[in-house]
Amino acid sequence: MLDPVECERARVGRDARYDGRFFTGVRTTGIYCRPVCPVRPALGRNVEFFPCAAAAENAGYRPCLRCRPETAPFSAAWNGSRTTVARALRLIEDGALDEGTVPALAARLGIGARHLSRLFLKHLAARPTQVAKTVRVQRAKRLIDGTDLPLADIAFRAGFRSLRRFNAVFAETYGRTPSDMRRPLSRRQSGD
Ligand SMILES: [Zn+2]
Repeated sequence: MLDPVECERARVGRDARYDGRFFTGVRTTGIYCRPVCPVRPALGRNVEFFPCAAAAENAGYRPCLRCRPETAPFSAAWNGSRTTVARALRLIEDGALDEGTVPALAARLGIGARHLSRLFLKHLAARPTQVAKTVRVQRAKRLIDGTDLPLADIAFRAGFRSLRRFNAVFAETYGRTPSDMRRPLSRRQSGD
């Protein structure tokens, strides 16, 4: 699990080596960030750390629009690891839980669904379905920022079953709708 002292050092120092390995929730703003966020770091007493974006969202935090947690690298801690959790994460990234079920995913990994959920809670502080939900929203956010595709296409490509569901989950995560998020290309490229 995360060492809070190590995370705090990385956060205050904006240490890029930790990017993707943890996220920081700022209690005073309700926003969560990557360690490399360009915004001036919050006071240490106002932050808490999470092992993944889904865990921060479960705790009620919204993704930062400056450091964009959806663009964080796939955690180096999991990358190259052969653990069951890392394999499960890759399968979820590939859409295993967009159509399929947790028991089916667990079966592909050769374990039971409850064991898989326990592993996720232990290592990621989030359930597989919660991680899958965050992954879908993150895919959609990257497509909103990086393409001019119609929102209905983005919903479908990101793995949502309907535009209505996409709008609801996105608004729940970001506190604004996908169309609110869509800005003119010139502003989008300014890095705001
Ligand atoms: Zn940030």
